[in-house]
Amino acid sequence: MQAGSVSDVVGHTPLIKLQSLSKITGCEIFAKAEYLNPGGSVKDRTALGIIQSAEKQGLLKPGDTIVEGTAGNTGIGLATLAAQRGYHCVIVMPDNQSKEKYHALEALGVELVKVAPCPFANPNHFYHTARALAESRPNSFWANQFENTANFEIHYKTTGPEIWEQMGQRVDAFVSSVGTGGTLAGVSAYLKEQDPKVFTLLADPMGSGLYSFVKSGKFEAQGSSITEGIGIMRLTENFKKARVDEAVQIHDEQMLSMLYYLAQHEGLLVGTSAALNIFASYQYALQNQGKGLRIATVMGDSALRYQSKVFNPQFLNEKNLKIMPLIHS
Ligand code: PMP
Repeated sequence: MQAGSVSDVVGHTPLIKLQSLSKITGCEIFAKAEYLNPGGSVKDRTALGIIQSAEKQGLLKPGDTIVEGTAGNTGIGLATLAAQRGYHCVIVMPDNQSKEKYHALEALGVELVKVAPCPFANPNHFYHTARALAESRPNSFWANQFENTANFEIHYKTTGPEIWEQMGQRVDAFVSSVGTGGTLAGVSAYLKEQDPKVFTLLADPMGSGLYSFVKSGKFEAQGSSITEGIGIMRLTENFKKARVDEAVQIHDEQMLSMLYYLAQHEGLLVGTSAALNIFASYQYALQNQGKGLRIATVMGDSALRYQSKVFNPQFLNEKNLKIMPLIHS
C-alpha cells in the first residue's frame, strides 16, 4: 500500500481475535488495534475528524494555530497531522501524564503547556486553559474534542463500520471506556443502527463519575486510577450521543492483571485503557461463559506510551500496586 500522506493511514486498523481469552470464556473476544494509527492511538481519528471539519468550515487556514487541552493522545494526533499540513500546535496537558507523551509532543514541535491536575470546576483545568489560550491568540482554532461532535462523527463514519465489517456483521456486544465519549458514542450509534440487539457496555475506571451516571443519573466518584485518557465527571456533547446499555467499574489491579496477561499470553503490548477495556470484555464473557458471544472492544494505545509507568517496577512499588494473576472464573 502506498499512502499520499500521514492522513491517509489514519484508521483501517486490524481487529485481532484474543485467542487465549476467547478459549477460556467460550466466547469470541476481538480487539481493535488502534495503536497502529500513525500517532499511536485511537485519537488520531478524532484529530483527523476535527481538522477536516474545521478546514471545511473555513475555521483553519494554512499557518493557523490549533490549540487543545488533552491527556496527550489527542495532542499527538493533532500534532502529527498539523506537522504535515503546516499548522502550529499549542497543547495543554495535566502534568501527571506519562513522560513518553510529553517527549513525543516535543519531538513533533508543539508548544507544550503543562498545568497542575485539578477538578473541572477550577479555571486552571487544562480544558479552560486551552480555551483561554485559543481566545487570546490571533488565528487560532480550539479543537475542543469534548464538545466538538466532529469527534463523534469520525467514529460513526469509520470505527463503527470497520468493526461491523471486520466482525462479519455479527456483533453481540461492544465494550469501551470513555475519555470524551467519541469512540463509544460513534461506535454504539453505528452498531445499534445495524442491529439494535448489540449490547453496549461502558467500562469505567475508579475515580470517574460515568458509572454512577449510567446507573443513577448522578455524577459520583470513588477512588482513583492510574489509567490515562479515560474517566470524566461531566456530560460531554460527544458522550450525549452514546447509546449505553450497562456500565461496569474496573479497578487498577484488575486492569494491571490483564495488561500483563495480554503481554504474556496474547503477545500484545497495550496501554492502560486497552487493558481496562479488555478486562471488562473478559468479565462480561465470563458472565456469559460458553455462549459463544462475539464481543468487540478497542485497544486505544500501546505499552510504549507507558514504559516509565506500568512497565516500571519502581513506579508500581511507589503506587503499592502488585501484578496479580488473571482470575479465570
Ligand atoms: N484510550 C486512550 C488511550 C485515550 O487516549 C482516550 C482518549 N483520551 C480514550 C481511550 C478514550 O476515547 P474517547 O475520547 O473517544 O472517549
